[in-house]
Amino acid sequence: MSKVFSLKLAKQSAEALLKEDGLLALPVDPFAIAASREIVVEGKPEAVDGVSGMLLRHGNDFGIVYATHIKSKGFQRFSVAHELGHYFLPGHVDQVIKGGIHVSRAGFVTNDPFELEADHFAAGLLMPEQPFRKEVDRYEPGLIAIEAIASHCVTSLTAAAIRYAEVGRMASAIVMSTGGIVDYCFVSDMMKSLPRLQYLRKGSRLPIGSVSSALAADPTLVAAGQRFRDDVDVRDWFGGETKATVVEEAVGLGSYGKVLTVLTSSKIGQDLEPDDDDEEQELIESWTPRFNK
Ligand SMILES: [Zn+2]
Repeated sequence: MSKVFSLKLAKQSAEALLKEDGLLALPVDPFAIAASREIVVEGKPEAVDGVSGMLLRHGNDFGIVYATHIKSKGFQRFSVAHELGHYFLPGHVDQVIKGGIHVSRAGFVTNDPFELEADHFAAGLLMPEQPFRKEVDRYEPGLIAIEAIASHCVTSLTAAAIRYAEVGRMASAIVMSTGGIVDYCFVSDMMKSLPRLQYLRKGSRLPIGSVSSALAADPTLVAAGQRFRDDVDVRDWFGGETKATVVEEAVGLGSYGKVLTVLTSSKIGQDLEPDDDDEEQELIESWTPRFNK
């Protein structure tokens, strides 16, 4: 199975689970879902850096421990949802639990396929596509919509931004950077409709002269959560051959020097065909019986 396909399935299986359980409203409560499966969930300060949580197994009993060293509710809920991914996704329990315990690093920071699948399951569980879209459509596109949906779903701003680029009905791109150097970049399908774009790679610099780059250059402003906005040419960020205006919004994410940049355009890619819903429905149905444990 291709990686992209397996990650899509992981998200859709989370959405199918919500449907099965009749959980159609936001926010989704991963603690309640765990309780409904008699999984004991406990928070614990984690000494080891980067560990987000654990899935424990004793016979047929399961437990989840989530790290509390990061105080953010969004982070903790994502961590619990990630462990639920290991519990629900086919093959995970046997693969990831060694000696009764699995240790996770959630949050799209690894290349381990099981960890990534669990992350995508968590994204689908906490931010199911249809209610997510319906909610973001109520706001002006870009950072405002992302902040609103993050608070509505009780997720981190970063997780909401990635999901926005994935399912939003607008050309967009999300760039996360630290100290002016790109950590990762997500580009929406509509944005990808422009020919010959060159995506920013991990380790490259933010475009010189951009407001994101100016913000990143001042750690005090980043720490203070300062935000900048500008109308720019998409070619300044991604090259290509099409002149098109995009809105660039940059926000400082606190003391780690991280800046989130959101690029949006309400014009680019609007003539693209929508997703084939029938195909998606088949995928959901073929995975649904797995949850009848
Ligand atoms: Zn994990």
